[in-house]
Amino acid sequence: MLQSGPGIVLNRRNAGEADAIGRVLFESGEAREVRSHGVRKSKSRSNLLLEPGSLVHLTYYQSEERPGVSADAVIFASLKEGHVVERFASLKEDGYDGLLVLSYFLELANFGSRAGDSPELFLLLKGTLEELATPCEAGLKAFRFTMLSIFFKVRVLKILGLVGDARSCAECGGELREEALWNVPEVFFSCDACASDANIPDAYSARVVAAAAGMRYGKFAEYLAGWRNSQAGSLADKALAADELQTRAADADSVPGADDTPRAGRGPKKDLPPWVYHTEERLLQCMEHYQGGPMRAATQLREQLRI
Ligand SMILES: [Zn+2]
Repeated sequence: MLQSGPGIVLNRRNAGEADAIGRVLFESGEAREVRSHGVRKSKSRSNLLLEPGSLVHLTYYQSEERPGVSADAVIFASLKEGHVVERFASLKEDGYDGLLVLSYFLELANFGSRAGDSPELFLLLKGTLEELATPCEAGLKAFRFTMLSIFFKVRVLKILGLVGDARSCAECGGELREEALWNVPEVFFSCDACASDANIPDAYSARVVAAAAGMRYGKFAEYLAGWRNSQAGSLADKALAADELQTRAADADSVPGADDTPRAGRGPKKDLPPWVYHTEERLLQCMEHYQGGPMRAATQLREQLRI
C-alpha cells in the first residue's frame, strides 16, 4: 500500500550492502522504520532524505500486517521518493554542541514513540526543533535549552501516561505545600504530612512539572523566566546548598580531596537556580528507569556541558 506524509527522522542506521534504515516519526503520530534501498551507492538518490533531525515528506510502500506475524516483528516501510521540507541546518551546523542537543531531543522523542501513535509527540518535536533553530542571544542559549529540556521531558512522560497530578499528594489528595517528596521513578508527589522525608527542592520541582504538563510552551517559558530573578525558589536554593555541604562533608571524610570534585548537576556554570537542575535530574532518572538504561545523548551532553 502506497502512503505518504510528513515526518521527522529520529535516527538512521546502515543495513546490508547499500541500504539505510531511518526511524521516522510521522505527523499521524506513527513511528515507522523506513528502508531506503541502495541509497548508499546511488548517485541519484539523496542521502539527506533520512538525515536524523530533518523534517521530510516521504512516499513509501507499507506492507500490510499479516495475521500470524508477531506484533513485535519490525515491519519495514520501503521508501519510494521524498523531499526535505526543513533540514534545521542552523542547529546541525552549530558545532558538536548543536549536534549533541539535536541527538538529545531525538533520543527523548524516540523514547516517547514507544507509547504508540501520538500526533502530539510529532508536534512537540517539530515545535522544539523550530524553537532551537531560531536565533537567540548567546547568553540566553543555555537558559532556553534548559526550559525546552524540562518541558520536553515532562511532555514525553505525560504522553507515556506516567505523569500524575503534580499539584496534589498522591497518597491523601491534599495540596502540596512548602515541602513535598518526589516518588522517583514515578512522577508522583507526596505531601509533608504523608512523607517524613519531604523536602523543599522536590516541592519546587512539583510546581515546575505541573506547569510544564498544563501550560503551552510559551507560557511555561514565561513562568520559569519569572522565577529566574525572583525570590521564589530561593528557599529551595538554600536547601540544595545545605544538602551539598553535607554531601561534600561526607565525601571529604571518605575520599581525600573529594571536596574539590565538581558534582553532577551543581557545577559553577549555572545561569538558573539549582532547583531547576534538580528537576532536570529527577526527570532524567524517571526516563532512564522506564527506558531500562541510560539515555546516551543526555549522558554525553551532561559530560560535554559539565552539568
Ligand atoms: Zn498527603
